[in-house]
Amino acid sequence: MAYAKHLTKITDINKFYLENIINKGDVTIDATMGNGYDTKYLAEKVGEKGFVYAFDIQEEALKSTRKKLEKEGYLDRAKLILDGHENIDKYVKEEVSCVLFNLGYLPRAKHLIITKPDTTLKAIKSSLEILKENGIISIAIYTGHDGGQEEKDSIYNFVNNLNQDEFNVLESKFLNQVNNPPQLILIEKKKSQ
Ligand code: SAH
Repeated sequence: MAYAKHLTKITDINKFYLENIINKGDVTIDATMGNGYDTKYLAEKVGEKGFVYAFDIQEEALKSTRKKLEKEGYLDRAKLILDGHENIDKYVKEEVSCVLFNLGYLPRAKHLIITKPDTTLKAIKSSLEILKENGIISIAIYTGHDGGQEEKDSIYNFVNNLNQDEFNVLESKFLNQVNNPPQLILIEKKKSQ
């Protein structure tokens, strides 16, 4: 797989961080399937012995993701779930090394369907419960749409207060881009001493 050489997209920068976090055989979660790019990325990284749980509330997302995985022969290492990520705890019972959130709305689809503060926070909290030591929760946040700023604020409120003895919380953002550039939050679970 080719990795980004430039610092242009937050989702590409995300991959720099994740490169050494996800190993073959890992169980991972794509909390916002969308068009399935991240599900495919995770499926490739975990290999045939690994697994990806992917969530979305739109049937269209499952359809395009299924198509992508089918093309690569990855369908047997992923479960595509038509349900909100706030219900992660009902589906995933094992420890995971990585949970990806790409918030906001699905590009080109109905912009009325967006991720929301309450459900996003519930999903982040459930993810923290099942995160392995040295595992990462990655959250790409967009504030250009209605409700985006509120969602960002509630996420920052929560992650700013995570105990630094247990978690590392990192922010990455473009400082010189116009029109509400996205930001990326990474939460790493520290090894217990
Ligand atoms: N803004 C990103 C794409 C985000 S896609 C970009 O530009 O690349 C966000 C996805 O989250 C959408 O497909 C939407 O259907 C999904 N979604 C919204 N609420 C959700 C929920 N509660 N659980 C899981 N997925 C959800």
